[in-house]
Amino acid sequence: MPGFEVFGEEEKKEILEVVDTGVLFRYEFGAQRQGVYKVLEFENRFAAYCGTAYAQAVTSGTAALKVALAALGVGPGDEVITQGFTFVATWEAILDIGAIPVFTEIDTTLNMDPLDLAKKITAKTKCIIPVHMLGAQARIAEIVAIADQHGIPVLEDTAQAAGARIGGQRLGSFGACGTFSFDAVKTMTTGEGGMIITADEKLWRIMSEYHDHGHDHVVNPGARGGEGRRFIGFNYRMMELQGAIGLAQLAKLDAMIVAQKKTKAALKEAASAIPGVQFRQLVDENGDSATFFCFFLESREHCQRVNTVLTENKAGAINFGENAWHFYPRWEHLLAGSTVAASGWPFMEPGGKRRVIYDPQGLPVSAELIDRMLVYPIPVKMSPERLAEIQAALQLAAQV
Ligand SMILES: *Cc1c(COP(=O)(O)O)cnc(C)c1O
Repeated sequence: MPGFEVFGEEEKKEILEVVDTGVLFRYEFGAQRQGVYKVLEFENRFAAYCGTAYAQAVTSGTAALKVALAALGVGPGDEVITQGFTFVATWEAILDIGAIPVFTEIDTTLNMDPLDLAKKITAKTKCIIPVHMLGAQARIAEIVAIADQHGIPVLEDTAQAAGARIGGQRLGSFGACGTFSFDAVKTMTTGEGGMIITADEKLWRIMSEYHDHGHDHVVNPGARGGEGRRFIGFNYRMMELQGAIGLAQLAKLDAMIVAQKKTKAALKEAASAIPGVQFRQLVDENGDSATFFCFFLESREHCQRVNTVLTENKAGAINFGENAWHFYPRWEHLLAGSTVAASGWPFMEPGGKRRVIYDPQGLPVSAELIDRMLVYPIPVKMSPERLAEIQAALQLAAQV
C-alpha cells in the first residue's frame, strides 16, 4: 500500500541531483539549475504513464481537487456530486471552493452508484466527482455517460488508485480530469504532493496558472516578473525535492502493484473459506491496484463475530463503519456545520441562513454495505510469516 516501504537509493539519487544545484523551486533560476527541472519532468512522465497529454503537479491531493474545481469554473451557488464513502478531503475541497457537496450511495464496487447519481443531478450540478476508493475502479464509463447527457464535467478523485486501470486505460483519464495524492499513506508518495491529469490543453493552462498566483505560463517553465495574468490564483506549487522523489516512486509503481496483487490473491483464497463471504465487485480485476482487500459478510453481526476472531488472532481487519474519516454518518463536523469562520461559512450564508442540511440517515444503502464489510490494507512487502498468520486467523474465522 504505501510507497514509503520501498523508499531507497533511487529516491536519494534523485534528491541529490536537486541538492547539488541548490535550486529547490520549480520556476526561475535558469542558469543555476543546470537543466534540472524535476517537477516538470515528473509531470511529463506521469502524464505519459497515464496516457494523457498534460499533468499539473501541486502540493497535495486536496490541492489537486481544489485546483481542478477552480479550473472547471466551479464556485458558490454550484452543487458538486460525490460519494458518501471517501476521505474527507474530497468534500473539503468542494466546500473550500464555495460549492455544496451532494453525496450519492455506493454500490458493491464501493464507489459511486450511477443510478443514485442520475437521481441527484439538478440544474445546479456543475461537477461530478466519483472516487476510485481503496485502489479500485468506480463504474466510470457509466458515470461519464450520465454526466455527458447533462453536459457536466467528471473529475475523478484517483488519490487512492494511482496505476489502476480499466481495460488498459489508467484511472483518472476517463473524465475531464483526474486528481492524485502522494501523501504519506498513498501507493506512491512524495511525502506530501498531488497531481492533476487532463487531455484538455485549455483546462491544463488554467490549472497551471491558477496554482501559481495567476502567473501567465505561456511557456512552462515560464519566465518570471514581466509576464501578465488572466485571473487571480493561489499558491499550490510543488517543490523540486518532491518532484525528484516522485520520479523515483513512479518508476516503482508497477512493481509495487504486482507485489500487492500476489498478497491480495493469497488473502482472497484464505477468506473464501468463510461461509457467505462475498468479495468487492471489481470493474476490471486485472486493472486493480490491489492496495486493499475488501469483503462483505452476511450481516453486521456476522461481520463483528468474524472480526473478533481475527483480532484475537492478531489479524484484525478495518470496519469503515467504525472509522471516523471515510464514511458520511461519521462526519459529525460536516453534519453539524462546524467551521472556524465566525460567519459560519461555508455552512451559513453571510446573512446567517443555513446553506445545506445533511441527514445522517441519508445513505442507507451505503450504511448497510459498510456495516458488513471488512478490509485489509495490503502492504507492498509482507513477510511469509505475517501472511501465514492472517491466513490462519481467516481459517479460524470461517468457523464462527
Ligand atoms: C488522500 C486522499 C485525498 C487527499 O490527498 P492529500 O494529499 O492527503 O491532500 C483526497 N481524496 C482521497 C480519496 C484520498 O484518499
